[in-house]
Amino acid sequence: MLKIYNTAKREIEKFKPAGELVKIYTCGPTVYNFQHIGNYASYIYWDLLIRVLKIDGYKVKRVLNFTDVGHLTSDADSGEDKLEKGAAREGKTVYEIAEFYGDDFMRNFRALELTEPDVIAHATDYIEDDMKAVDKMTEKGFTYETEDGIYFDTGKFEHYADFAKLDLAGLQAGARVGFSDEKRQASDFAVWKFIKPGEKHAMRWDYLGRPGYPGWHLECSTIIDKELGGPIDIHTGGIDHIPVHHTNEIAQTYAMTGRELAKYWLHCNFITIDGEKISKSLGNVYTLDDLAERGFSPMDFKMWVLSGHYQGTRNFTFESLVGAQARRLAWRNRIAECYQNKEATAASNDNSAFDKILEAVNDNLNSPEAFALIDNLNLSLDDWKKIDELFGLKLIKDSPDLSQKALGPITEREKARAKKNFDEADLIRDELISQGITIKDTPSGPIWQYLKN
Ligand code: AMP
Ligand code: ZN
Repeated sequence: MLKIYNTAKREIEKFKPAGELVKIYTCGPTVYNFQHIGNYASYIYWDLLIRVLKIDGYKVKRVLNFTDVGHLTSDADSGEDKLEKGAAREGKTVYEIAEFYGDDFMRNFRALELTEPDVIAHATDYIEDDMKAVDKMTEKGFTYETEDGIYFDTGKFEHYADFAKLDLAGLQAGARVGFSDEKRQASDFAVWKFIKPGEKHAMRWDYLGRPGYPGWHLECSTIIDKELGGPIDIHTGGIDHIPVHHTNEIAQTYAMTGRELAKYWLHCNFITIDGEKISKSLGNVYTLDDLAERGFSPMDFKMWVLSGHYQGTRNFTFESLVGAQARRLAWRNRIAECYQNKEATAASNDNSAFDKILEAVNDNLNSPEAFALIDNLNLSLDDWKKIDELFGLKLIKDSPDLSQKALGPITEREKARAKKNFDEADLIRDELISQGITIKDTPSGPIWQYLKN
């Protein structure tokens, strides 16, 4: 039975009984640039959620969006549209930018062995729905028009501050003057932006008799309503989304439908790199390709991510990635042992081993605890298969049974050693090493192991 920390209630809650359909929405990437390892960490955590739900016996319908319009460089409805910025940077159209970075995201998503979402929703495919949503919110009196666009009047939603426990008075007092004198409250946000005459904005749609485009938060409310219907069971995202983006999604959905948006809200903490925020100015915006250049695979990174808790403060360093890589190799070599000693491992196996691991994950996705159990429990090949299904670490996939290949050379090497023909023994060992296999001499004789990940 899954228990998860629900941001909406600020406590760990039991989830609904297994067997039922679970509707999940994940706020996805803004496809204007490469996603960095911090972004991918969040999708790795949510993949664990999907995997554990499926193993527990839930049916899952999961939607992930691609933000390909409307996300401005400032979350406060000002600055440049990120897609337009990407297009200017690369001399491409906004649509080319969205396609290129969307494809790159999916390439990495698959390399990380993340479960494919049932629906990948591009924000630009929901513009008509966005307009209808704004119409609805307006009909119900939740919006007002300014020179700049249609704004959500947060003063009309009495629970606006609840989700993020916002200090609205403080927000108001600290508001920047001059940005939009027409805004009624500092927390009000654009649901639709107008494009002024002469303003450069390639993505534009006619609505209310003039060109414009949707506000960033709107797509999530619209897509959820259309693809999943509400209230959904679980909504996920990074902690950065709590005070603005998710708060605004909740307000919009309430205005559109009178319903709550999601029953459970899960937020992952941000990872830092070498103790610093991930930022361009610090030059630490690593991608998975950057890690590959330094000899680390997506699976090594995934191992690193899951060795910590999704709500914990995580600091990425290359030393800790070396540790994660070594741990994965150690696990794969325990699988190698299973291949070589099937009967003995099965006989000494603790039948409830995998259940203990699953229980740890069911306890608010406690993957570090589950990993500690994996380190210490006696596991069979069958357990390892289940572990692979739970974490998607390609332990079995990347660990073919090399016994057939290794057996002959190992025997030859033993013979050579018995004859004190050490040069020949070393040659045989070197030949195996070139095939990625190493021989370890143990008290019960030599065994083969994987040399590297
Ligand atoms: P974005 O493309 O900027 O909307 O980000 C995609 C996802 O990555 C969002 O859910 C963010 O909350 C999440 N995210 C961004 N930076 C980090 C980080 N340093 N650590 C963990 N998650 C992050
Ligand atoms: Zn969202």
